[in-house]
Amino acid sequence: MPKPTTVTCTRCTATALLPEDRNHSRLWDAGWRWIGPELTSCPNRPPVLVIDDQGRHLRGPGAPDARLGVPA
Ligand SMILES: [Zn+2]
Repeated sequence: MPKPTTVTCTRCTATALLPEDRNHSRLWDAGWRWIGPELTSCPNRPPVLVIDDQGRHLRGPGAPDARLGVPA
């Protein structure tokens, strides 16, 4: 199977090209967040992932079962 070359927001139809070197930090810096391949948010949507002040990765307001924020 070919590797995917883009990421697609699971909340809208936005896509972004994956860097060829698989360094996702540029996508992260651009505002993309993801929890595995099925849950991705673009910079224009509530993030599916947030990082707290301890550096922990938590589900964000864009995640369907988040305890905080908007419902799916
Ligand atoms: Zn989106």
